[in-house]
Amino acid sequence: MTPIYDLHCHSFYSDGILSPNDLVSRAKAHNVSYLALTDHDTTQGIAVAQKAAKDEGIDLIPGIEFSTQWYGRGIHIVGLNIDLDAESLINGVAKQENSREQRARAIAERLAAKGYDGAYQGAQKYSGSELLGRPHFAKYLVEIGAVKSVAQAFKRYLGAGKVGDVKQMWPDFDEVIGWIKGAGGVAVLAHPDKYDMTRTKLRLLTADFAEAGGEAIEVISGKQKAGLATDMQRIADMFGLHSSCGSDFHSPGQPWQELGAFEAMPKNARPVWEFWST
Ligand code: AMP
Ligand code: ZN
Ligand code: FE
Ligand code: FE
Repeated sequence: MTPIYDLHCHSFYSDGILSPNDLVSRAKAHNVSYLALTDHDTTQGIAVAQKAAKDEGIDLIPGIEFSTQWYGRGIHIVGLNIDLDAESLINGVAKQENSREQRARAIAERLAAKGYDGAYQGAQKYSGSELLGRPHFAKYLVEIGAVKSVAQAFKRYLGAGKVGDVKQMWPDFDEVIGWIKGAGGVAVLAHPDKYDMTRTKLRLLTADFAEAGGEAIEVISGKQKAGLATDMQRIADMFGLHSSCGSDFHSPGQPWQELGAFEAMPKNARPVWEFWST
C-alpha cells in the first residue's frame, strides 16, 4: 500500500475544531502516514502536533496556510516543511497576526454600516485564543439572527465579493513566498479550484505564482469531482510545478474534507515531498 500524505489540515489554533493531539489521532485512524498541519497564519499548534505524531508513529510536517491577495482576490498559499525558528517566518507570522486584527476591525465596521453593531466583540466570543477570522463573524451573525446559518452568513455577508470580504490587508505573493522560502519551506498554491475563477484566470494566477517563486500546486483538495486532479495536473505541468494533495480538514462530519480521504495523485505528478525526502 502506498503511504497516504495529507498535506493540508487545520486545528483549533485557527478555524479547525480539533486539538493538535486529536487531529493527529484522527489522522492515524485514517491511515495517514505523513501529515502537515497548516493552520491559517499561525504555527502555534505544530510543536504539540509533532510530539503527538511521534507517539502515534506518523510523520508531522510543519506547515502553515498564509492569506494573500492577488488582484483583489483572497488567495491561500501553503508553506510546507518550514523551519519554525526562521526569522523570515517569525516576522511573517507576526505581520499576519497584525493584519488579521486590522481586518477584523474593518469587517466589524462594514457590518456596523449594514446595521449589525458589536460584531467585533461578538466575534471575539467565538474566537477564544484563535486569531479572529470570518467564521467567528459568521457565528455572531447567526447568534443575532441576521442569518440562519454560517453558510448563509458567508453567502450574504462574508464570502468572496461580499461586504465583509476584506482582503486589502493581505500581502502579495512575493512577500509570502519570501517568508516560506526564507524558512527553507516549499510554497504551494492552495485549493486552486476553490477560487471560482475561469480556467484562463486560474492560469494567469498560477503563472504569477510560479513567477514569484511558488513551487507546487494542490492538484487534490479533499474529495473532488472526477477529472479535476488531471485538469489541475495539466496546469502544474504547464508551469513546471510539483503537485501536492491534502484534505483541508477542519472538523469531523464533513466527509468531503476528511483526513486522508482523497484519490491518489495523478500518475505523472511530481509529488511535493520530493523536496524534503531524498
Ligand atoms: P478567514 O481566514 O478569516 O478569511 O476565513 C476563511 C475560512 O472561512 C475558511 O478557511 C473556511 O473555514 C471558512 N469559509 C470560507 N468560505 C466559507 C463558506 N462559504 N461557508 C462556510 N465557511 C467558509
Ligand atoms: Zn480554514
Ligand atoms: Fe484555504
Ligand atoms: Fe485550509
